[in-house]
Amino acid sequence: MSSVPDAVVVGSGPNGLAAAFVLASAGLSVTVYEAAPTPGGGCRTEELTLPGFRHDVCSAVHPLAAGSGFFQRYDVPAHGVRLLKPPVAFAHPLGGGRSAVVTGSVEETAGRLGSDASTYTSLMRPLVDHADGIVDSVLSTMRAVPSDVAGAALFARLGLQSVSHLARRFQGVEARALVSGVGAHSIRPLDRAGTGGVALLLSLLAHSVGWPIVEGGSQAITDSLVAAVTQLGGEVVPDVTVRRLEELPDARLVMLDTSPSSLLTLAGDRLPSGYARRLSRYRYGPGVCKVDWALSEPVPWSSAECRRAGTVHVGGDSYEVARAESEVCHGRHPAQPFVLCTQPGVVDATRAPSGRHTLWTYCHVPSGSDRDMSAQIASQIERFAPGFSDVVLAKSVETAADCADRNPNYVGGDIACGVQDLRQTFGRPVWRWDPYRTPLRGVYLCSSATPPGPGVHGRCGELAALSALRHELGIRRPPELAPGMRRLHERRPA
Ligand SMILES: Cc1cc2nc3c(=O)[nH]c(=O)nc-3n(C[C@H](O)[C@H](O)[C@H](O)COP(=O)(O)OP(=O)(O)OC[C@H]3O[C@@H](n4cnc5c(N)ncnc54)[C@H](O)[C@@H]3O)c2cc1C
Repeated sequence: MSSVPDAVVVGSGPNGLAAAFVLASAGLSVTVYEAAPTPGGGCRTEELTLPGFRHDVCSAVHPLAAGSGFFQRYDVPAHGVRLLKPPVAFAHPLGGGRSAVVTGSVEETAGRLGSDASTYTSLMRPLVDHADGIVDSVLSTMRAVPSDVAGAALFARLGLQSVSHLARRFQGVEARALVSGVGAHSIRPLDRAGTGGVALLLSLLAHSVGWPIVEGGSQAITDSLVAAVTQLGGEVVPDVTVRRLEELPDARLVMLDTSPSSLLTLAGDRLPSGYARRLSRYRYGPGVCKVDWALSEPVPWSSAECRRAGTVHVGGDSYEVARAESEVCHGRHPAQPFVLCTQPGVVDATRAPSGRHTLWTYCHVPSGSDRDMSAQIASQIERFAPGFSDVVLAKSVETAADCADRNPNYVGGDIACGVQDLRQTFGRPVWRWDPYRTPLRGVYLCSSATPPGPGVHGRCGELAALSALRHELGIRRPPELAPGMRRLHERRPA
């Protein structure tokens, strides 16, 4: 693209690409600059271990994409991306070959929880009945009247609780472990207010849209978005690190799929001091140590249910999980970390040569840690899958420090690009009525450091692009997310 584009996007993560797609659908010419050699940010797939073994470098499980209004409007299947639902969304192994599992059905899940069955049903059934409205209001700017007020109110009442509080509703080890394992995705101590919201959101997504895995790898989502942007006349340019806003072409809109810290650097002293000061107080959370494994056969879980699960939460009972997460948040490396495992081979045979498998794992570690946690991760898996080490062909380790080096959005290895406590859920990156708009004319933040926060859902990018269209170009109606619209600069008054 030789002439100056209408819009420039810095960063090609799912939010940068979502913003680019919305703007291109509105008829703008768009150029996306990406620092890495390939687009996708946290949504990529590579042969990290051995030839033919395709591993998701970051995101692997996509309940948020499946539930996201952006991806529903974008129509993921129509763009050739297949979301494959494992029969068990997530499982949590316990001693003696037992496990707790969540499937699509609330009643089936409850039926395996013994005396906790009715408590589980009475907790989850009303939420699942309001699933669309709840997901819609959570994956939003969080500043509008919810489409389903009753659902949003119910979710807020329960979700403001801590994971520990929710877990105490149950008598049995299984239900308590399930809630703690899924709540640990919050990357916060499990006794903190609001962590229950993460557990409930991810559980209700398991019961409504599932926890799908992308056929061929998460990269397929990125490739489809890049193709869609390109089809609309846009351009994605890899290997370009933008260091200052002045380096960019003189576009009307600049969308930053970056961290708040990068916004400070990119803008230099152009930001008003009050905004810059508040931005500099933005807080990042713990990091992750990620380990990918090439396996000669599936993980030999003692529990048969774990062998059918897309995701397995490994860490023992609720007390063990809570202890491990608390240690991390206090700056220590747990000897027995809580481990998130995804086994794409349960539904996707394309990830490894015939008969072979990949395993995706990570555990939380203190911010900036350069410690290789693969031994601790392997030993936790071995507790519930004896013989695991015998099926390992190769592994690839990315410490939290490596993760931050690879993607500047993951400061200290924080994959959420900022702590998601109550203050930073609503006030990310700083509290403003329009969180995407910066004080600089035409410059918008569109990364997961804006509402609704982390995950591959594209909503931060979509909402930022809609805000930019409204404020800078007076376009109030969201564009149809479809090709073939007249280019905006053709009909814009001179
Ligand atoms: C290990 C890991 C596991 C995860 N698992 C899941 C999961 O299973 N499911 C899920 O939904 N989410 C998961 N996530 C989170 C998810 O990947 C992120 O929330 C999501 O990718 C955020 O999208 P984004 O577009 O805001 O930012 P990113 O995806 O981080 O993309 C930002 C892009 O901007 C580029 N960039 C930044 N600054 C500049 C600059 N100055 N110049 C040029 N380019 C720049 C970066 O190189 C990067 O490519 C995971 C993340 C990680 C790291």
